[in-house]
Amino acid sequence: MAGATQRRMPGKDGQQNPVTRAFSPVRTAFWGVAVVSFVINILMLTGPVFMLQVYDRVLASGSVPTLVVIGILAAVLYLFYGVLEGVRSRILSRLGQRVDARLSGLVYSVSNSLPTKLGKQAARLRPVQDLDTVRQFLSGPGPAAIFDVPWLPLYLGIVFLFHPLLGLVGAGGALIICALIGLNEWLSRSPAEDAAGYAGRRAAEVENGQRNSEAVTAMGMQSALVAKWDAQNGDYLATQRRASDLTGLFGTIIKTIRFVLQSAILGVGAWLAIQQEITPGVMIAASIMTSRALAPIEQAVAQWRGFVASRQSLRRLRDVLQVADTETDKMDLPLPANTITVEQVFCGPFGESMPYVQNVTMEVFAGDGVGIIGPSGSGKSTFARALVGAVPALKGVIRYDGAELGQWPAEKRGEFIGYLPQDLQLFDGTIAENIARFRADASSEKIIEAAKLANVHDLIVALPDGYNTVIGRSGRALSAGQRQRVALARALYGNPFLIVLDEPNSNLDAEGEAALTGAIKQMRERGSIVVVIAHRPSAIATVDKILCLKEGKMAGFGPKDDVLKQVVQPVQRARPANITGTFGPGVSGGY
Ligand code: ADP
Ligand code: MG
Repeated sequence: MAGATQRRMPGKDGQQNPVTRAFSPVRTAFWGVAVVSFVINILMLTGPVFMLQVYDRVLASGSVPTLVVIGILAAVLYLFYGVLEGVRSRILSRLGQRVDARLSGLVYSVSNSLPTKLGKQAARLRPVQDLDTVRQFLSGPGPAAIFDVPWLPLYLGIVFLFHPLLGLVGAGGALIICALIGLNEWLSRSPAEDAAGYAGRRAAEVENGQRNSEAVTAMGMQSALVAKWDAQNGDYLATQRRASDLTGLFGTIIKTIRFVLQSAILGVGAWLAIQQEITPGVMIAASIMTSRALAPIEQAVAQWRGFVASRQSLRRLRDVLQVADTETDKMDLPLPANTITVEQVFCGPFGESMPYVQNVTMEVFAGDGVGIIGPSGSGKSTFARALVGAVPALKGVIRYDGAELGQWPAEKRGEFIGYLPQDLQLFDGTIAENIARFRADASSEKIIEAAKLANVHDLIVALPDGYNTVIGRSGRALSAGQRQRVALARALYGNPFLIVLDEPNSNLDAEGEAALTGAIKQMRERGSIVVVIAHRPSAIATVDKILCLKEGKMAGFGPKDDVLKQVVQPVQRARPANITGTFGPGVSGGY
């Protein structure tokens, strides 16, 4: 997995994988289940033994009292058996829940960070679903079947004791079945893996369609998308079919062999009985015993797909959780308040190991306003993400009052970083929750302060539910400009030291722009560093420094007027109207 991510996590090697940790209490419980399984399997001998006694003792002697006594004995043993089976299945179903409970929070948080850490690769990883698969398998009939399989030699051993020839026939049958299981496992591995991959792509396709719902409807893309979906779904179904065909085929073969074996034992037993080597009771008991010995194998084959799927899920979870930032007790450093230094930083888009932005160096101080300008695709957003720690610097360091971001506990970062992403999304929740970033310690004053700074307070209170208006997927939709202003308030919440606004004015009207300019000014006066990425000059009216990027490289950094003179002036002479419009063509054509 992304080498850069692992490089940045010291001490990882010495630590146990969270999956291993989550399973450790379960492992002890598995021992308990193994003991219960042992007793259950001993009690399962009740049937054949009862049969043996009825045939050889009761029928031979014709004694009804004997029948009653062994009947009562058998009933008691069956009762025990039933109770233990119930206990075992309850333990197993709780084990699945325990593992889930221990991992789900971590898995959810890792799942949230995957897109920024792995980029495009993240689409095929669905750790939450993987955990579901593991839990479902653990809570289902699969593990019980697997726990019963090891007792096969016990049953076969008893059959051997009845008569070596019977034992040999039984062992031969068991060997054939085990070989078939091995073959099944070998053959079904790749279809199962393919199916998981296709399932991931399918889920991504569903999300894609929902996200672009408006475009799909407006431009009549429905049938084109359905064709694309059908092709993908066809692949998915085909691998599913192959996987279940295999399992079905092997299941049937194994079941048939078991029936044949049972009759073969009976036949051999009958022959031995005719030779007076064994009694008819032994013949019947051996037949039942063999079938009993092989039953869990058949069960295990039926559960095999679940087992394989959950094993793969577990492996993916292990890999994915390596990416997790395990918070070792980090020092409670004071919040930065003075400088941010960027030293020869190289960084790339999410999950890419090739740096797009190269060799950026700058130093900014409390109260500074920094405008980042440059044509589209010049790396402004990429650099902004590195600045707020959403993507790691692949080379070089960014220091906040001398310390790298990793030295603060993750939840502390929000207290000194405010970020308005270019492709902003609000969360499903109330406006107040969104502005307060869902913090448990949010106070109304701070929320309202941020909203007023972003000049969105009046707009919010004008809504029928005010700050409690539910927005996001399940609630009221705000206009793009309104969303941008709520997101601006979210970035300003708690007066962070560093505020990075990625094209904050792209959807704003004149009034919104004025509010933005005012907010930037106020935040700078309070000692924050405000970094604004802009296409239109109005947003950088209140900054004093400019970083200009071109094709990922620094084309200038310094006092605003100097840099603007350097990069924009030549074009301004050629096309005087340009400076009031946008930086885009001006900057790209300027040098
Ligand atoms: P800007 O914000 O200046 O318009 P970006 O930083 O968004 O530019 O993009 C810089 C470069 O990185 C572009 O060449 C773009 O194609 C590439 N890029 C941006 N986002 C991604 C992504 N998620 N995956 C791969 N490449 C990306
Ligand atoms: Mg951008």
